[in-house]
Amino acid sequence: MFFFFVGGVNQQVSRVLKSGAGRCINCGSTADLVEYEKVLKAFFVPVWKWPAKEPALFCNNCNLLFPSSLPPPPPPPLVSDVSKCRFCDRLVEPDFSFCPYCGSAL
Ligand SMILES: [Zn+2]
Ligand SMILES: [Zn+2]
Repeated sequence: MFFFFVGGVNQQVSRVLKSGAGRCINCGSTADLVEYEKVLKAFFVPVWKWPAKEPALFCNNCNLLFPSSLPPPPPPPLVSDVSKCRFCDRLVEPDFSFCPYCGSAL
Protein backbone atom coordinates (compact mmCIF):
# COMPACT_ATOMS: atom_id res chain seq x y z
CA MET A 1 0.00 0.00 0.00
CA PHE A 2 1.35 3.36 -0.97
CA PHE A 3 0.74 6.55 0.87
CA PHE A 4 0.39 9.59 -1.30
CA PHE A 5 0.97 12.88 0.40
CA VAL A 6 -1.15 15.36 -1.49
CA GLY A 7 0.10 18.71 -0.47
CA GLY A 8 2.82 21.22 -0.78
CA VAL A 9 3.92 24.65 0.17
CA ASN A 10 2.12 27.51 -1.48
CA GLN A 11 2.93 31.16 -1.31
CA GLN A 12 0.07 33.53 -0.92
CA VAL A 13 -0.16 37.26 -0.64
CA SER A 14 -1.29 38.35 2.80
CA ARG A 15 -1.05 42.12 2.61
CA VAL A 16 -0.30 44.73 -0.02
CA LEU A 17 2.33 47.10 1.34
CA LYS A 18 2.64 49.43 -1.59
CA SER A 19 0.81 49.11 -4.82
CA GLY A 20 2.65 49.79 -8.01
CA ALA A 21 6.00 49.68 -6.22
CA GLY A 22 7.83 47.71 -8.83
CA ARG A 23 7.77 46.28 -12.25
CA CYS A 24 7.10 42.68 -13.15
CA ILE A 25 10.18 40.81 -14.28
CA ASN A 26 8.00 38.66 -16.49
CA CYS A 27 5.49 40.87 -18.28
CA GLY A 28 6.74 44.35 -17.42
CA SER A 29 3.50 45.67 -15.94
CA THR A 30 3.43 47.31 -12.52
CA ALA A 31 3.77 45.01 -9.54
CA ASP A 32 2.71 45.56 -5.94
CA LEU A 33 5.03 45.28 -2.98
CA VAL A 34 3.38 42.68 -0.79
CA GLU A 35 3.83 40.68 2.33
CA TYR A 36 3.21 37.06 1.68
CA GLU A 37 3.04 33.94 3.67
CA LYS A 38 3.91 30.40 2.98
CA VAL A 39 1.10 27.99 3.48
CA LEU A 40 1.64 24.30 3.90
CA LYS A 41 -1.29 22.46 2.50
CA ALA A 42 -2.17 18.87 3.01
CA PHE A 43 -5.02 17.45 1.02
CA PHE A 44 -5.71 20.98 -0.19
CA VAL A 45 -6.38 22.20 3.34
CA PRO A 46 -4.00 24.76 4.79
CA VAL A 47 -2.44 23.21 7.88
CA TRP A 48 0.36 25.59 8.65
CA LYS A 49 1.16 29.16 7.77
CA TRP A 50 4.26 31.17 8.37
CA PRO A 51 5.08 34.64 7.21
CA ALA A 52 7.88 35.17 4.78
CA LYS A 53 10.80 37.24 6.01
CA GLU A 54 11.05 39.64 3.12
CA PRO A 55 8.28 41.42 1.31
CA ALA A 56 8.06 40.48 -2.32
CA LEU A 57 6.64 41.95 -5.47
CA PHE A 58 3.48 40.53 -6.88
CA CYS A 59 2.25 41.05 -10.40
CA ASN A 60 -1.51 41.14 -10.72
CA ASN A 61 -1.27 40.66 -14.43
CA CYS A 62 0.47 37.30 -14.55
CA ASN A 63 0.21 36.36 -10.84
CA LEU A 64 3.93 36.15 -10.42
CA LEU A 65 5.47 36.53 -7.00
CA PHE A 66 9.13 37.37 -7.07
CA PRO A 67 11.65 38.77 -4.59
CA SER A 68 11.95 42.53 -4.48
CA SER A 69 15.68 42.31 -3.85
CA LEU A 70 16.62 40.98 -7.23
CA PRO A 71 19.92 42.25 -8.49
CA PRO A 72 19.33 45.18 -10.82
CA PRO A 73 19.54 44.40 -14.49
CA PRO A 74 23.07 44.63 -15.84
CA PRO A 75 23.97 48.14 -16.95
CA PRO A 76 24.05 48.75 -20.67
CA PRO A 77 27.48 48.13 -22.14
CA LEU A 78 29.73 51.08 -21.56
CA VAL A 79 30.16 53.37 -24.47
CA SER A 80 33.69 52.87 -25.57
CA ASP A 81 35.86 55.80 -24.69
CA VAL A 82 37.66 55.43 -27.96
CA SER A 83 36.47 57.43 -30.91
CA LYS A 84 37.13 57.04 -34.59
CA CYS A 85 38.87 59.34 -36.93
CA ARG A 86 36.38 60.60 -39.47
CA PHE A 87 39.00 60.60 -42.18
CA CYS A 88 40.99 57.39 -41.89
CA ASP A 89 38.50 55.43 -39.77
CA ARG A 90 41.07 54.40 -37.18
CA LEU A 91 40.46 54.32 -33.47
CA VAL A 92 41.96 57.26 -31.63
CA GLU A 93 41.81 58.53 -28.06
CA PRO A 94 38.81 60.84 -27.66
CA ASP A 95 40.89 63.60 -26.06
CA PHE A 96 43.24 63.84 -29.01
CA SER A 97 42.74 66.93 -31.14
CA PHE A 98 44.54 65.52 -34.13
CA CYS A 99 44.54 62.04 -35.54
CA PRO A 100 47.95 60.44 -34.88
CA TYR A 101 47.65 58.42 -38.09
CA CYS A 102 46.62 60.91 -40.72
CA GLY A 103 47.07 64.22 -38.91
CA SER A 104 43.50 65.42 -39.50
CA ALA A 105 41.83 67.66 -36.96
CA LEU A 106 39.27 65.63 -35.02
ZN1 LIG B 1 3.60 40.10 -14.77
ZN1 LIG C 1 42.89 59.80 -39.15
